[in-house]
Amino acid sequence: MIADKSSRAFRPEHIVHICFAIVFVFSTLLTWREAQVLKSSYETDQRAWLAQLASGLEHQLQQSIDEMYFFRNMLHHALDEPLVTDKSREALAAFAVKRHHPLWKININSERSMPLNGISDEALQSFPLLSRADPKRLDDELTAVLEMSYILQFNNPVSDLHYRLWYISRAGFYLSSVQDDKQETVKSYSTAIDRPYFLNAHPQSNPDRGMRWSESYHSLYNEGEVVTVTLPVDHDNYWYGELAMDFSTEAIQRYLRQTLPTWQAGHVMLFDRKHKPLAISDGKKMSEQGINSAELAEIFNKRPDEKSGQIRSGTRFITWVRLQHFDGMMINVQTLDEGMRGETGRVTLVLVLMWGLFTLVLLACHQAIFRMIRRMLSLQEALKRRANYDGLTRQLNRSAFFEQARKQSAFCERHQLPLSLIQLDLDHFKSVNDTWGHHAGDVVLTHAASVIARTLRKEDVLGRVGGEEFCVVLPDTSLAEAVEIAERIRCKLASKEVLINAMKTLKVTASLGVSSSDEQQDYKIENLQSIADERLYRAKQAGRNCVSSGG
Ligand code: GH3
Ligand code: MG
Ligand code: MG
Repeated sequence: MIADKSSRAFRPEHIVHICFAIVFVFSTLLTWREAQVLKSSYETDQRAWLAQLASGLEHQLQQSIDEMYFFRNMLHHALDEPLVTDKSREALAAFAVKRHHPLWKININSERSMPLNGISDEALQSFPLLSRADPKRLDDELTAVLEMSYILQFNNPVSDLHYRLWYISRAGFYLSSVQDDKQETVKSYSTAIDRPYFLNAHPQSNPDRGMRWSESYHSLYNEGEVVTVTLPVDHDNYWYGELAMDFSTEAIQRYLRQTLPTWQAGHVMLFDRKHKPLAISDGKKMSEQGINSAELAEIFNKRPDEKSGQIRSGTRFITWVRLQHFDGMMINVQTLDEGMRGETGRVTLVLVLMWGLFTLVLLACHQAIFRMIRRMLSLQEALKRRANYDGLTRQLNRSAFFEQARKQSAFCERHQLPLSLIQLDLDHFKSVNDTWGHHAGDVVLTHAASVIARTLRKEDVLGRVGGEEFCVVLPDTSLAEAVEIAERIRCKLASKEVLINAMKTLKVTASLGVSSSDEQQDYKIENLQSIADERLYRAKQAGRNCVSSGG
């Protein structure tokens, strides 16, 4: 009836569980936070070095592109004011003679200039885009390109990223920074004319007359895969031809390999706008790039103003940087394994190990403290039992009984409920001891206590208040009801035989005195007990084995 619920909710084991759970959650949160910081520093690092690598490549490209713009300006200038010299006259005269040869080469000064290579007027007919219709333009162009040929010899394929710079004219000739074999002139020329990049320089395809990157294609010579950037050359609203610059993907690959930091795991790749891999830093085959088409599509679909970024795909970490001078992306793919080999990976590993170790120690401490507390609690429980219960009958001892009885009495008084008390004493118990020994007496006592306890309700309080004296407090019970209960106890005791050894049974009876608050108008346990005791005395006098409740 009167249960202490709050003490159960805050049991010490619960507090220990909660405390350790809090420490665990906090340590995990801190580790997680630290891991997030490491992750973002890893991401920043990855982006930074890839951007650095990209900017190195951009710098190289910029140099080449600057050179191409320089030549375009030079051609514009030369077309504006053609420089007529003996050499140019000589060249024009040579052209007038050679223009009917299927293949021709004009090399005015082989030590100081690059040769002009061309095809015949007849061969020109098969290329609709080509024309030598305007003799004035043709002379001016040849003169201007001759000027260019003097400077082109300084082109340095070793220091430059590009390996060839061309001027391809619509008038059926070209100038190249690299000398071709004579036999291949027509082939090179017609190949160049047929390449999409040449056609893309047409004013209709390239209205802004800007630079255009080609896709990679297989070179005619032994240069492997090549990408070409072109710049149309127009003057006086006439499209003369275009400057083209060839980059071998092998050179870009070499650049990536040489500039990739040695501490950096994973591999760097360059993709063109059609998602085609142009170069890969670690010499892997292009088919083993470690990135699939969906991931590439995701990267290439990023907004153009996004210059760099990262995506995570499974256990791979993909960093990308958009190139400004090239129509493509530089991409680095790192697997988890490669990432773990890096500085950040090692720190993360140590962090996770430390967290694991800390959690193990925490678990061990939790177990130790939890067991200690459980042992302490069971000890406390045992002590409490020993302090409150009688060791023989397992019923409340005198002091604990009075404590419980007072609580029930206060409760009944508060709620204006009747409270009754039964005082019980076994009859002629001394003779049981004397005749059958103390052990038999103990057996009888235990038997009597269990019979009484079984007759009572849960809320009734039973205690052993003397040697063979018991007291029962019955809350919410009137005197008449208490007498009934007392009578029931008496009858049960009297009707049972107690087995005191293998051969012998005994009958035991008791005398009972009953008092109640409703007749006394008093809830004090001591007073009720003293009245019940007097009535018990009367029951003894009345011949024992009976209940007395008044008079
Ligand atoms: P009455 O009917 O007048 O009550 O007679 P009685 O023999 O029961 O008288 P009394 O109350 O004087 O005797 C109590 C006896 O109970 C005395 C003591 O030897 C015995 N006793 C008290 N405590 C224990 C106990 O724990 N074990 C045993 N075996 N005997 C006990
Ligand atoms: Mg007795
Ligand atoms: Mg007695």
